[in-house]
Amino acid sequence: MEAWLLGARIDALTMEETVERVTGFIKSRRPHRILTLNPEYLYRAQFESEMMRLINRSDLVTPDGVGIVWACRVAGYPVKERVTGIDLMQRLVKQAAACGWRVYLLGASPGVAEKAAEKLCCTYPGLQIAGTHHGYFRDEEAGLVAESVRQARPDLIFVALGAPRQEFWIDRYLESTGAAVAMGVGGSFDVIAGRVRRAPAWVRRLHLEWLSRLLQEPSRWRRQLVLPCFACMVLKKYKF
Ligand code: UDP
Repeated sequence: MEAWLLGARIDALTMEETVERVTGFIKSRRPHRILTLNPEYLYRAQFESEMMRLINRSDLVTPDGVGIVWACRVAGYPVKERVTGIDLMQRLVKQAAACGWRVYLLGASPGVAEKAAEKLCCTYPGLQIAGTHHGYFRDEEAGLVAESVRQARPDLIFVALGAPRQEFWIDRYLESTGAAVAMGVGGSFDVIAGRVRRAPAWVRRLHLEWLSRLLQEPSRWRRQLVLPCFACMVLKKYKF
């Protein structure tokens, strides 16, 4: 089932249905883009048409977080659960280890992708890491980075350059890498590498992960100001 929210198409799938869909993408060997949509991205996309185009050009758009799930329900779509970038990444890495998919980690500060790869290999024995590359390259170097990804022959690329840089990189370069799937994962490598702590499960269950991120990284408050604006926009469009 799909939902439409503020001009964006969202796949209203559960985590397991999402993993099944991605498995199909990998088997097809053709390039597929996954975008995990959070309120911040969707709000900015209202004013930046290129960002909106990237959403609706993606092969799979997941409801990344409780804000999107809530908004979809307000808009009349019974989205079952959130499928966040980091949860989906972890689940896909598990599947990769089981199915022999080659995984590439692109992004974050130098050393972080390597550390995240190490941790993932400990958690999922047999995981094949095709390669890693940090995310602090200049725009002029983006093509060269894509070439080194291609040489590593990955099936699945996780791109952690922050939104929307990661979505733009995927849009421009996925085809030339030869991989079947690329997905933007924001700050997930920092969490997996242990540089940033994720909120404990009970905080996540209370839907307060945003608050915990704010306390850990107070500089995010400016970004989180978008959340009430997003909520008002949704209520105005679908309720009043
Ligand atoms: N990053 C990067 N290159 C850049 C800018 C950011 O590799 O030019 C990385 C950064 O180190 C971090 C991730 O992208 O690991 C973005 O994290 P953030 O928490 O901001 O992601 P979001 O909130 O967008 O999911």
